[in-house]
Amino acid sequence: MSALSSVPSPVAGAQDPSLAEPRPAVLIINCGSSSVKFALIGTRRETLILSGLAERLGSPEAQMSWKSGDEKKSKALPDADLVTALHEMLGILPGNIQVVAVGHRVVHGAEAFSHSVRIDADVLAGIERCNDLAPLHNPANLAGIRAAKKVFPATPQVAVFDTAFHSTLPKRAYLYAVPYDWYTTDGVRRYGFHGTSHRYVSSEAARRIGKPLDQLGLITAHLGNGCSASAVEGGRSVDTTMGITPLEGLVMGTRSGDVDPSLHEFMAAKRGWNLERIMKALNRESGLLGLSGVSNDMRTLVEAATAGNERAQLAIDVFAYRLARSISALTAGLSHLDAIIFTGGIGEHSKYVRARTAEHLQVLGVELDAALNDRNGEPGTGRISRAGTRLCLVVPTNEELMIARETLSVIQS
Ligand code: ADP
Repeated sequence: MSALSSVPSPVAGAQDPSLAEPRPAVLIINCGSSSVKFALIGTRRETLILSGLAERLGSPEAQMSWKSGDEKKSKALPDADLVTALHEMLGILPGNIQVVAVGHRVVHGAEAFSHSVRIDADVLAGIERCNDLAPLHNPANLAGIRAAKKVFPATPQVAVFDTAFHSTLPKRAYLYAVPYDWYTTDGVRRYGFHGTSHRYVSSEAARRIGKPLDQLGLITAHLGNGCSASAVEGGRSVDTTMGITPLEGLVMGTRSGDVDPSLHEFMAAKRGWNLERIMKALNRESGLLGLSGVSNDMRTLVEAATAGNERAQLAIDVFAYRLARSISALTAGLSHLDAIIFTGGIGEHSKYVRARTAEHLQVLGVELDAALNDRNGEPGTGRISRAGTRLCLVVPTNEELMIARETLSVIQS
């Protein structure tokens, strides 16, 4: 369940003059190549007022769907571009809402951005300089910022970077063992991603454990379509599985995660493929999808495996084993381990994947409580481990809330 509470049907009262008292809110924008996700969060009680998605932008099938309280709506926006979609979104905001800031999720901030920043011309240029490190994501994020500046010209805009939380990695964790000038000249190093989620669940875990974050050693596993795990010591990321791009590390929905770098040359020789074709295979045709031949979606795979599909079972086995192996390896970055945290769609909902992963973590003293694991965690704490064994928690992530908090803190500072 989201940490954000919902309020009933504010859209229904959108034009109601009795709701005239301004209600400050932060608008969160997460812009992809042809879609934009948005969320509106009230600043007084961190309430999720509205969330939605405009997708297939630029095509005749473009549409916007949104949810407010229990109410769900959608609207066709044929051939709408990003600016049109944001104008449409403006039209569905409750009438009493005052958007005090816009927070943008930006995937790659490289070494230039170790914190969230208020966006100005220099920041835009800085994000643009990171484009070659995230060619699929950063240009789309920039397009979202430019569109939002047109639609909200007088509203402060803040960039919140996926990489920023990992800016505290020590050199021994972020350097690859390649010629050093690859790092100094071309920025070749491990940056890490999903930082907003790792950061949010770390602080939420501290609250649930009842100890100050600065005293805790945690492993956080964010398992969605993309997957990464991090070692978090005293609230600071000290190691993580993703690298210069989000392809490194764990097995993901369609991404391979770690492979032997010589595989590129080997497959080029075997199949006559160029680098672009090989990268497409590693990014889009691998991971759970490539192994199973069934789906990139864990829910579908668990159903298929339960029905006897051996390749689906194999994909889950490899996923869980590789996750456990990475969790064990990440403990090298910690002085002590207080808890292992599962989050993201798979981490929060798949009791089966958590159980399979735990089987490979017995050396770390992990033993799950089957009943608690079945319920996706003890109410209140999210604990899934047996009392007296290594603490394991399910902590739902809330990247929108984290971005809203960051955005507010930047504009207030
Ligand atoms: P994204 O990275 O796109 O935000 P999510 O965090 O929503 O993705 O995670 C999507 C993944 O979570 C999918 O593989 C989906 O199958 C999986 N998932 C969601 N619910 C369940 C469930 N009940 N059991 C197993 N997997 C689930």
